[in-house]
Amino acid sequence: PKYSPEEVLNLIEQEGIQYVDLRFSDLFGQWQHLTIPAYELSLDTFENGRGFDGSSIRGWQSIHESDMLAFPDASTAFVDPFMEPKTLVMICDIYDPITRERYGRDTRYIAQKAEQYLKQTGIGDTAYYGPEAEFFMFDSVEFGTSANYAFWKVDSEEGWWNREITSSGYKIPHKRGYFPAPPLDKTHHLRSEMVSIMSQLGIVVELHHHEVATAGQAEIDIRYDSLVNQADKLFIYKYVVRMVASKYGKFATFMPKVLPNDNGSGMHTHFSIWKEGQNLFAGSEYAGVSELCLYAIGGILKHGPALTAFTNPTINSYHRLVPGFEAPVRLAYSARNRSAAIRIPMYSQSPKAKRIEIRFPDPTCNPYLAFAAILMAAIDGIENRIHPGEPFDKDIYSLPPEELKDIPQLPGSLEDSLKALEKDYEFLLKGGVFTEDLIQTWIDSKRKEIDEIRFIPHPKEFELYFDI
Ligand code: GLN
Ligand code: MG
Ligand code: MG
Ligand code: MG
Repeated sequence: PKYSPEEVLNLIEQEGIQYVDLRFSDLFGQWQHLTIPAYELSLDTFENGRGFDGSSIRGWQSIHESDMLAFPDASTAFVDPFMEPKTLVMICDIYDPITRERYGRDTRYIAQKAEQYLKQTGIGDTAYYGPEAEFFMFDSVEFGTSANYAFWKVDSEEGWWNREITSSGYKIPHKRGYFPAPPLDKTHHLRSEMVSIMSQLGIVVELHHHEVATAGQAEIDIRYDSLVNQADKLFIYKYVVRMVASKYGKFATFMPKVLPNDNGSGMHTHFSIWKEGQNLFAGSEYAGVSELCLYAIGGILKHGPALTAFTNPTINSYHRLVPGFEAPVRLAYSARNRSAAIRIPMYSQSPKAKRIEIRFPDPTCNPYLAFAAILMAAIDGIENRIHPGEPFDKDIYSLPPEELKDIPQLPGSLEDSLKALEKDYEFLLKGGVFTEDLIQTWIDSKRKEIDEIRFIPHPKEFELYFDI
């Protein structure tokens, strides 16, 4: 149900709710929260916001005024299924208390502006997103750095990958996790519990399954929804996944590449643009898509390298985008080919189901930014009639380099993706959706991350160089 402010206040009365949890994303897509006793919430909180100190929120530090206002969005209210005493959660929009305007680094605002901009262009009224966010569950995790050594250890019983990563009881062989029935699938009950809770919270789930990698990799697919709604839901999705895993003493991680030499965790994103109830991506071109859809593909492929700065925004993201693990490495599109950056699923003949599957994003993205950036690239492609060229239906992993020389590659590192963004961000600024400040702050913060790692020798270097 979608509540109004009055209904939220009534719900608090009726359900005996004692706390209200105000949540919002930091710049990088991590959910933050602060909690007020329920008696502190009134209609005034919805109208004038709730003050808090925003100075220590990641990505927001450099503002001179650290006071911020959180305006709860009543329509997002839900009773937290994990918190005691009874707590109502609402997602917030962030405002500057001096100007009374939206705070420019509130990424939900970028997503809202992107939705508005689509309408303004007249191209369509709604963009739909269906993310397949994959994750791992482990029994124990240990990691750390010291002055000259970094380590991680993910615990389980099997050690075939020559590292101390195992997962007790898992006997699924290498790359055979997709998807043998129990007893091999040992996390079925966890996924089911996650799905039950998501369903209670209004997230419609289409299916869940074990993923290809060996140790407790999982995927839960949620039904498509519009940009901001779906990004909001992804925060709830990750929250539920982590909370249920921790209830069973496990750790869930959305890191794109945890196990060396095994599949990583992606977030394939199904995408389509609609107008007045019509799916604009359905048509009679290649694989049953429209010309407009081809142009959207053209825009996404053209801006692909810049997009990855938002869709694959971590150093770890680029350990996943390598050949051999069903993750894309080339900016090509195809109806069949899972090694291409964009696939056109052929499951259904219905025009309503026509969509593209963008395969490079991963779940470390901030979905507000990633979804907005994807839409902006698609709009740019449509407005400039950027044709994507011929589809590429061969398996990209198995081809000799000569056959691939004309197909551009996805960036090989976070640094490469930031360089691509530096050169190509005009399409994001259209309609004031992204701002120079946000993009520059993003690049600067990500470069700091790169340095943090650059300063520390990787454990593998000891194997490669210690004895030279
Ligand atoms: N996990 C793979 C990826 O990194 C995809 C495997 C799959 O979904 N079939 O994108
Ligand atoms: Mg899937
Ligand atoms: Mg999958
Ligand atoms: Mg998929």
